[in-house]
Amino acid sequence: MSGMTEPRCPQCAGRRIAEIDRIPGCARVASVAEDGTIDWDGETLIDWNGQEPAHEPPLFTCLDCHHEAGLADFAPPVLFVAALKRVDAVLERLPLGDFEIGTAEQIRGHLTAAKESIALARRIFGGADIA
Ligand SMILES: [Zn+2]
Repeated sequence: MSGMTEPRCPQCAGRRIAEIDRIPGCARVASVAEDGTIDWDGETLIDWNGQEPAHEPPLFTCLDCHHEAGLADFAPPVLFVAALKRVDAVLERLPLGDFEIGTAEQIRGHLTAAKESIALARRIFGGADIA
């Protein structure tokens, strides 16, 4: 895909950036005491298919210096520009500027595209103000 580039840590310039995820597992029980305290066996089965971001929006970390932030902190400017271009493209298609009224299906399509772009921007930039 064109326009893709590696993220980089703003603090140490490291390139080992990782999303902080949560992975479900089943921890094996060895025995249970009368008060309900569990003695664990030590074996945990990891469900790799259940891996998902631990935070919403996702939080990222530098594996070298442990700087944690939203993707906007690590994303190179090319990602920012790409997201803004996509939002601009959607806004240009909206019929509001020249007061044209599209069909219900056209307007629904514009609004769906706008919502997808906003969701993409939120996912990329987290709570960052992109205005
Ligand atoms: Zn770093």
